[in-house]
Amino acid sequence: MKNLLDYTQSQLAEFFVAMGEKPFRAKQLMRWIHHYGVRDIEQMTDIAKGLRAKLAEQTCIQPPSIQTELLSDDGTRKWLIAAGDGNAVETVFIPEQDRGTLCVSSQVGCALACTFCSTGRQGFNRNLCVAEIIGQLWVANASLRAAPDYELLSHDDRIISNVVMMGMGEPLANYDNVVSAMQIMLDDSAYGLSRRRVTLSTSGLVPAMDKLKHDCPVALAVSLHAPNDALRDEIVPINQKYPLAELMAACQRYLEYAPRDFITFEYVMLHDVNDSIQHAQQLLDLVRDVPCKFNLIPFNPFPNSGYRTSSADNIRRFREVLQQQGYVVTTRKTRGDDIDAACGQLAGQVQDKTKRAIKMAVVAG
Ligand code: SAH
Ligand code: SF4
Repeated sequence: MKNLLDYTQSQLAEFFVAMGEKPFRAKQLMRWIHHYGVRDIEQMTDIAKGLRAKLAEQTCIQPPSIQTELLSDDGTRKWLIAAGDGNAVETVFIPEQDRGTLCVSSQVGCALACTFCSTGRQGFNRNLCVAEIIGQLWVANASLRAAPDYELLSHDDRIISNVVMMGMGEPLANYDNVVSAMQIMLDDSAYGLSRRRVTLSTSGLVPAMDKLKHDCPVALAVSLHAPNDALRDEIVPINQKYPLAELMAACQRYLEYAPRDFITFEYVMLHDVNDSIQHAQQLLDLVRDVPCKFNLIPFNPFPNSGYRTSSADNIRRFREVLQQQGYVVTTRKTRGDDIDAACGQLAGQVQDKTKRAIKMAVVAG
């Protein structure tokens, strides 16, 4: 049976045409499924009875299932979403005064093995399919609408006003599914989010960045974390393949198409690793030709990480070096600490298929 959550509007239109139906049915269906969150095809009253019967025979609307839902003291919510075979990924909702941001996962685990990232430490299992990615918006909406404080949460009529592809996984390593899911996020009949309010975060897969700017130009965040190749090779190993000079050039090319006129550089603050004043100065040199903002993320510890969070003083000094040159710098507040929903703490349950843990043990031994 076809899961209708897997389809973009244009794919649904093709499906209807192949059935001998009018393509505009796709728009109606997208509205019912994504805008209203309806699963029961019988409730889709503007679709003719005969067609409803055909759809009910051939298709279903199957959102991913929630294993656990946690609510933090600060209003942050986290869902553990079942991904089959005992695996799970995480989705996090962060309510703020003027927006509601959903942090969405793209893969079960991640193969890129950044040394300070809890997802990366667990290895890689598989890509999420479109229904599992867009399904995170679907289930989050459903669950938020059912929450007792729903009225308080909703500014305009959208609870989720922003999406960040910053959950588990490297979104550009699951390119086709992530692009289709983002097209559904942007679709006016579905979630109707503005391109400026959908942000994809990447550790820097240069060829995919070049494709994305044509296929689905959304706001871009790049996980920099180090101002020189020697250090970045070590903590963000994909840098060995796409070094900083190439990454900076790709950022410039992306900006020609981006919905915002800057790139956000994310920089995790690791005590005594990348947080000195010299690092900040090197960083300024590195980004000279790329209009950008900085987002400093205090390292979120997890067991046996081997890293410590930079001190508040170091973070402040680092920030001031950048600000003195006129850059906008935000320091990310840690949200959802009590439910382990902070950046890079998302662990889910991942069975590594790459046997990385074994390889590492062999190397270490
Ligand atoms: N794979 C993508 C998106 C997911 S991670 C990427 O790497 O950009 C979202 C952000 O959290 C990235 O900037 C990532 O480097 C950062 N991050 C990972 N582990 C972290 C940790 N333990 N503490 C703080 N930030 C972390
Ligand atoms: Fe993967 Fe991003 Fe974690 Fe690196 S930081 S291991 S790219 S999820």
